[in-house]
Amino acid sequence: MTQEALAVLQKRLAEYVLPYTGKRLGEEGSSLEIEARDDGLLARVTLGFPAARTAADLVESLQRHCDGLDLPLPLRFEVESSIRSHSVQSGLKPLDGISNLIAVASGKGGVGKSTVAVNLALALAAEGASVGILDADIYGPSQPRMLGLQGERPVTPDGKKLEPLEAHGIKAMSIGFLVDDSQPMAWRGPMVTSALNQLLTDTLWGDLDYLIVDMPPGTGDIQLTLSQRVPVSGAVIVTTPQDIALADARKGLEMFQKVNVPVLGIVENMSFHVCSSCGHEEAIFGEAGGTKLAEEYDVPLLGAIPLDARIGAQTDRGAPTVIAEPDGAVADAYRRIALAAAGHLAAMGKDYSHAFPTITVEEG
Ligand code: ADP
Repeated sequence: MTQEALAVLQKRLAEYVLPYTGKRLGEEGSSLEIEARDDGLLARVTLGFPAARTAADLVESLQRHCDGLDLPLPLRFEVESSIRSHSVQSGLKPLDGISNLIAVASGKGGVGKSTVAVNLALALAAEGASVGILDADIYGPSQPRMLGLQGERPVTPDGKKLEPLEAHGIKAMSIGFLVDDSQPMAWRGPMVTSALNQLLTDTLWGDLDYLIVDMPPGTGDIQLTLSQRVPVSGAVIVTTPQDIALADARKGLEMFQKVNVPVLGIVENMSFHVCSSCGHEEAIFGEAGGTKLAEEYDVPLLGAIPLDARIGAQTDRGAPTVIAEPDGAVADAYRRIALAAAGHLAAMGKDYSHAFPTITVEEG
C-alpha cells in the first residue's frame, strides 16, 4: 500500500516545475527525497539556492500541487537549501571561500545597475545566504552611500589584507572606502583592473555563498578584461526598455557570451511608471524591450522593476528598498529577481575544478 502511495506521490512531485529554476523538482537545481514514516509521508526538498523567506510559500504551493492525491497518510514537506559552487571561465580558479561570484553589469551608466546589485545582494541575504558585495564601479562607487557606510574606512589587521565593512547583514568592499570621493578618479585601464583585482583578493571575505560584483558600466576594454580575469559564475544584465539602452545591453550580453560567462538573465529597470496618485501604470520608455532582448538571446528575463521615486530616495538614505520596505511590491520584485538569478545558477553545471589534480607534463 505504502509503496504504491509513494510511487504516486513521487510521480506527481516530479511534475512540479520549481519557480526560479524553471526545472522540475529533482532535476538540476533541486533534489527530492520521499520517506514513509509511522506518522506520515515526508517529502524533503533540497534547493540549490537560498529560500528562508520563500520556503513557506513553496510548501503551500507544493501542497496545492498534491491536492486530490489519494494518500493513506498525511503529507508533510521540509525545504532546505544547499548552495554549491558553480564553474567559472576555463583556465581561472574560483576564489577561496567564495562559492559563486555574480557580476551585475550594464551596457551604459545610469540604468540602475548599482541599485539592482545592492538589492539583489540584500535579498539573497534575507533568504539566508552569506553574501558580500564588491563595488567595482570604480569611476562612480555608489555602494558606500547605498549601504549607509559613507565616510567609513576598512581596517587592516595585518597591514596587508582588508576587513570588509558590514551593513544590513552583508559584507561590502568599495574603492569608495579607500579614496576621498570628492576627488575625481582619472584611472587608466590597467590601473583599474589591478586595483579591482586587489580589492577582490585582498579583502577578508570569509566564506560566502555569493559575492555580487557591481561592475563598471559599459562594454569597453576594462569590462572585457574584468570579465576575462575575474572568476565569474554568472552575469546579470541590467537595462532600461529604451532602444538605446537595449542596444548597449546587447553588447554587454555578447561580451559575456564571448568569454564564456553564462548570462543568468536580464533585469528590466524603470520598466513602467506607476502614478503615485492614481496607481495607473504607464510604459514611458516603450514596451517590453527586456522581454524581446531575452527572447533574442534565449536568456531568462529575471524580472522588471518600476520607475518609482521611492527607490532612489530609500537608496540615498542608505537603506535600499529590500531593507526599507521589505514587504512592499518593489522589494518583492527585487526578491524574485534575486531568487531567479540564484535559481538559474543552481540549475547550471557544478564546479568540478577542485576535484581534479593539477597535471603537469614534464619533458625529458
Ligand atoms: P547605474 O549603476 O546604472 O549607474 P544607479 O543604480 O546608480 O545606476 O541608479 C542611477 C539613479 O537612478 C540613482 O539615483 C538611483 O537611485 C535611481 N534609480 C535606480 N533605479 C530606479 C528605479 N527603478 N526607479 C527610480 N529611480 C531609480
